[in-house]
Amino acid sequence: MPELPEVETIVRQLAPLVAGRTLATVEILDGRWSAPLPPVALAKALVGRRVEQLRRRGKYIVWEFDDGHYLVQHLRMTAVLLYDPVPDPPHVRVRLTLSGPSGSNARRLPAHTVVVCDPRRFGTAELFDSAAALERSFAARLGPEPFADAFTVAYLKRAVRARTRPIKAALLDQRVVAGVGNIYADEALFRASVHPARRAGQLSARQCESLHAGVLEALQAGIDARGASIDDFRHVDGVRGSFQDRFLVHRRAGQPCPRCGAAVIKTVVAGRGTYYCPGCQPPPRARRN
Ligand SMILES: [Zn+2]
Repeated sequence: MPELPEVETIVRQLAPLVAGRTLATVEILDGRWSAPLPPVALAKALVGRRVEQLRRRGKYIVWEFDDGHYLVQHLRMTAVLLYDPVPDPPHVRVRLTLSGPSGSNARRLPAHTVVVCDPRRFGTAELFDSAAALERSFAARLGPEPFADAFTVAYLKRAVRARTRPIKAALLDQRVVAGVGNIYADEALFRASVHPARRAGQLSARQCESLHAGVLEALQAGIDARGASIDDFRHVDGVRGSFQDRFLVHRRAGQPCPRCGAAVIKTVVAGRGTYYCPGCQPPPRARRN
């Protein structure tokens, strides 16, 4: 599933290509994408709107339109966004046509196409008709952005303090910090030398500090590599990301830890396949009664 660095990569590539352009046609070929809104209703609400900007919040892509309308898109498992794909790719669920900027030269600029391809059809989009409604929705679902000022060591300590579940589960909780998923949680915990199954509330002050840094470093490394393409993730021009070649522990079971050489172990934490180094991330000691 695309996480913060993958979504950030898409937004950075696509934003300059769509900003200032108008949605000329909106074809929604799969009712699951817009549900519970019928495709016709969503298309009608979007056609003719100008894209003011494209941005990211957590793992969501936010299309900001004129007149305070927002389309919040989530790629879920397998959705990708492709810009002017040639030839037409398989599994197209949505096709948007963008015309040139409004004004005198609008007709002279060629139209462009953005398609949503989604083999497993879990991707979604939700329409909001005001900034306040959008912010209310995000406030209920998402904690701070990791690169925002609000995500401090002190915040992270407070957010995990009372939690008895594994620290990896806390990192995956979008209300603790937005945008971290299975890949970057593993990579952050390795960077911080914290075992993924350690109880969140039992992290020492120093471990919280290391983990805060680990989250930022892992996400930044992912952004620098333009995301990880394990399965479906592609850039808007169809190119794969390269972070999958730079994983420190994720998906590296049996391979040597880059720091100490011990074999990386795969286990299950928080219901997810989890990778860690038994040398660098010692398991929590059994609790004394
Ligand atoms: Zn190690």
